[in-house]
Amino acid sequence: MIKKIEHLGIAVKDLNVSIPLYEKLFQTPCYKTEAVESEGVKTAFFQIGESKIELLEASNPESPIAKFLEKKGAGFHHVAFEVDDIDKEIERLSNEGFQLIHTSPKDGADNKRIAFLHPKSSDGLLIELCMEKLS
Ligand code: ZN
Repeated sequence: MIKKIEHLGIAVKDLNVSIPLYEKLFQTPCYKTEAVESEGVKTAFFQIGESKIELLEASNPESPIAKFLEKKGAGFHHVAFEVDDIDKEIERLSNEGFQLIHTSPKDGADNKRIAFLHPKSSDGLLIELCMEKLS
């Protein structure tokens, strides 16, 4: 079951520029930065009330974020929905005909297990499913 919007992902060219910019905008400090090597991405998180914003910078030129920035430039990248059971949601959405980029969950930033849906099957919107890692 999809429970709520967990965060919005925004692609940026340079976290060193964008973190202070968003700190000024939100009037709150970035609470965490984290590299996810498997995705070629460096992330920075902000908490605004009940919502979170994730900034994403490419850590290498082959990174999906690098390709996104090349094609579309900086800006809105993905919406992440929190789910109660990520394995079940992957199976359910796959049975409903959605195309998944990850057919089994992988480790994401911020202590999450994640899987992305292909935007081709969701009206052009890149969707991340995520679930808090139990440990
Ligand atoms: Zn995300």
